[in-house]
Amino acid sequence: MTAAAVAGGQSAARKPMTDTERKFRNLGLVLPEDFILHLPLRYEDETRVVPIASLRPGAPAQVEGRIVRSEVLYRPRRQLTATLADETGELQLRWLNFYPSQQKQLAAGKRLRARGEVRGGLFGREMVHPRMSSADTPLPTALTPVYPSTEGLPQPVLRRAIAQALDRADLSDTLPEAARERYGLMPFEPAIRALHTPAQGEPEQALLDRVHPAWRRIKFDELLAQQLSLAAARAARRVKEAEPLPARTARGGLVDRLYEALPFRLTGAQERVVREISADLAKPYPMHRLLQGDVGSGKTVVAAIAAAQAIEAGAQVALMAPTEILAEQHFRKLVAWLQPLGVNVAWLSGSLSAKARREAAAAAADGSVQLVVGTQALIQDHVEFHRLGLSIVDEQHRFGVGQRLALTRKGETVRGRIVPHQLNMSATPIPRTLAMTFFADLDVSVIDELPPGRTPVVTKLVSDARRDEVIAHVAQAARAGRQAYWVCPLVEESEALELQTAVDTYEGMRADLPDLRIGLVHGRLPQSEKAAVMQAFRDGAIDLLVATTVIEVGVDVPNASLMVIEHAERFGLAQLHQLRGRVGRGTAESVCVLLYQTPLSQIARERLRAMFETSDGFEIARRDLEQRGPGEFLGTRQSGMALLRFADLETDAAIAEDAREAAGWLRAEHPEAVAAHLARWMRGREDFLRT
Ligand code: ADP
Ligand code: MG
Repeated sequence: MTAAAVAGGQSAARKPMTDTERKFRNLGLVLPEDFILHLPLRYEDETRVVPIASLRPGAPAQVEGRIVRSEVLYRPRRQLTATLADETGELQLRWLNFYPSQQKQLAAGKRLRARGEVRGGLFGREMVHPRMSSADTPLPTALTPVYPSTEGLPQPVLRRAIAQALDRADLSDTLPEAARERYGLMPFEPAIRALHTPAQGEPEQALLDRVHPAWRRIKFDELLAQQLSLAAARAARRVKEAEPLPARTARGGLVDRLYEALPFRLTGAQERVVREISADLAKPYPMHRLLQGDVGSGKTVVAAIAAAQAIEAGAQVALMAPTEILAEQHFRKLVAWLQPLGVNVAWLSGSLSAKARREAAAAAADGSVQLVVGTQALIQDHVEFHRLGLSIVDEQHRFGVGQRLALTRKGETVRGRIVPHQLNMSATPIPRTLAMTFFADLDVSVIDELPPGRTPVVTKLVSDARRDEVIAHVAQAARAGRQAYWVCPLVEESEALELQTAVDTYEGMRADLPDLRIGLVHGRLPQSEKAAVMQAFRDGAIDLLVATTVIEVGVDVPNASLMVIEHAERFGLAQLHQLRGRVGRGTAESVCVLLYQTPLSQIARERLRAMFETSDGFEIARRDLEQRGPGEFLGTRQSGMALLRFADLETDAAIAEDAREAAGWLRAEHPEAVAAHLARWMRGREDFLRT
């Protein structure tokens, strides 16, 4: 079957799929409408041939001439070589893999065109694996597009299929003229044609740099589609109902008494986000809020107050955290704050005995506990709630969309029409541009202030060569009554190796520093032992805690004021920031030592510099995003999220702003345009609407 039939779409669907079709489909290309949005990565200028004498190594070029000789060499390995000559000079051509027929095409005397990158070879200038064509065909008059492709799908096949799709697909403009005028956009059809087949004399650089007006239009369209689908998701949520859980105004209520029992006053930022959440909970449709706050900013107490309001209004609350240590710590805190006020709190985790788990689940189901805290165990099938009104997810980015949905489903009634309110918390601040595009369906509350009395952490970068000095320093500090974490290196390839390193470090320290009380915590430790070690550290019965990254999230031991991270160069920026956030929680001056091993890669160097230069989580996130790009930054966990293909949130922030405004305007004024636009851009991505 030809590419034409493939691009023809529907008709091809009835016949068995060919290899080419399968490859197209892997690229997401099925209908003509898909092909036309498959845009070039770059362009090649095949409109000119240059004299061989003018060739410079390192640059791609196209030349034309006569084959002087060609032969197959067997040393140093089998290869086909040919010499091409024009009036100005000679050029070697070389193929390491070739078909026998190729040699015939290179017969002496043939006039051929060769295109490729020029290298300075042993025998003068050469091209390795140049693309050849007959010199008798006319030169193209426009730039040649180069498309993203996959193994075994040659550019000419893609080009042909796309050219055919351009004849068949609906290229009508989804935007009314008023919108194009308002945002200075060129019409869709000329834009899409200009990108696939640039006219003669189009500014090549603007096309390559993706700043050409045609690119601007496509990027705008893509960002607009994203904004429109997010707005649609938000509207879909609005037609769902939730139980209103308004704050009681009467004195002496649960929330009131919780405030009185707290050992501190809320910061201004905490008060503000509490108000925002409180107002959401009172509404008859579900809250969908992201609570962002840097590590140590005090999100837990905000969650506790939200829980208290929901419980006071008669509902149950579930709080889910990604690790046992973190969930347990929440449990401990919430019990301490809420149990004395008469709230029953249950603990549900995978490490509980089957019996204990059954009991916790039964208590959730019959409504005898108002608050259930736990790990992923909360979303297992047999767990049911009597009246779940609020689900809280801590470190929400560690869960997949599916897991977060599974928790809210526990509270669905009336066939999914009534759903619980949802509060997601995260210490990984999401830069504004990202929040605006990917999380536009979430309302965002930010705690942008740390509780008073914290002293900033001093960060030191120290070469691994001075490890002994660092150990001596830590020992001295421990003897003076400070508590310290020693974080063992991350070993991405092997958890077993990582564990081994931690055990070795622990044994070594115990042997070298017999006067210190040293503990070890890692992911493979049974939960009860993990909890016991953490408790001992919290109680001050351990001076130095050797740990793997299990302590990364949430651990809160205010007296710990010293942290050493070994092989800090192996950690990601967000992870380093999280780890460092474990110290500096009390009033003592805290120090974080990043031990690194040379030589450092460029990216590791930048990460360590960022850690040294700033402790602001938002700034760290911004640099992290810059280094990794949004796809990586958000993580594969955030599946179900449509990533951008053409627009770049950093460089196209202004277009994103326009698109956001346009989305609101179009939804109000041009609903038919909205439908057409989403149909073009969001085909096959309907799942996106469910996040
Ligand atoms: P995170 O936002 O990282 O989850 P936590 O909720 O664990 O932070 O809070 C960090 C520490 O700060 C805890 O020990 C908590 O009790 C304390 N804390 C929270 N709010 C305040 C406040 N307003 N004043 C003083 N300490 C606070
Ligand atoms: Mg926390």
